[in-house]
Amino acid sequence: MNARAVARSHLSLERNLFVDRVFFAIRKRMPGLVNRIVTLAFVALLPACASTRTAAVKNTSKSFTTVVVDAGHGGKDSGAYRRYGPPEKIVALDVAQRLNRKLRESQLKTVMTRSSDVFIPLDERVTIENSQKNAIFVSIHFNDSRRRGIHGFETYYHSSTSFDLANRIQEKLMTIPHSANRGVHTANFRVLRLATYPAVLVECGFLSNRSEGGQARDWEYRELLADRIAEAIVEQRYGSGVYRGSTQTAAQSPQPEASSGGTGLAPAAVHR
Ligand SMILES: [Zn+2]
Repeated sequence: MNARAVARSHLSLERNLFVDRVFFAIRKRMPGLVNRIVTLAFVALLPACASTRTAAVKNTSKSFTTVVVDAGHGGKDSGAYRRYGPPEKIVALDVAQRLNRKLRESQLKTVMTRSSDVFIPLDERVTIENSQKNAIFVSIHFNDSRRRGIHGFETYYHSSTSFDLANRIQEKLMTIPHSANRGVHTANFRVLRLATYPAVLVECGFLSNRSEGGQARDWEYRELLADRIAEAIVEQRYGSGVYRGSTQTAAQSPQPEASSGGTGLAPAAVHR
């Protein structure tokens, strides 16, 4: 459990302010190993501390028929923003749309919280996710750090019924060449905490990192991200080896075409 990763996330503003203050005070006073132990113990208790409103979760992790695909940020909220390259809200939407298409091709129903560059408040996203029947929720984000060397994938969850899905998504992302594993973590993000279904938030790499930020600008790489996340979701529902996704990806194509928005991909099908 990487507590510092949680603290560093650009989404940390969502966390309870009180929790932040206590967390900071504890870390400041205690050095070294004691600091780490206390921090880990404290993070383990985070959900309990700040769960004034925590939803009772229905365990649909193996029976779901609908996937709510949430593209982080949008409109006035750009998310992580770097001078060079598109802001987080644009690349997150693109991955979400690709994921949406792949899930539909795999016979799953989908609902997108946004399908254009519009601002959707977090509570509205929660309402959309919880108003479905027999669903799961997958939120797509990209990460940011002041330290440019930091890179890798992270997947967050809140309820224990969401762990399997989070873990599976993280594992599939790790099959991408040169990927770095920053782990699966619990987090108190509102869209996770208030979800009545299994819910995860995927951080698809750091826009602040030269390599991952550069890759995020490449549609073929975003197609690959969506493919791995779709594979994890389909396998979570129907079992391992079931997913038949795109046969041509950025990693497999010997001579990728310049840019035509994901054409030339074989249709996916679920083999039950
Ligand atoms: Zn984000």
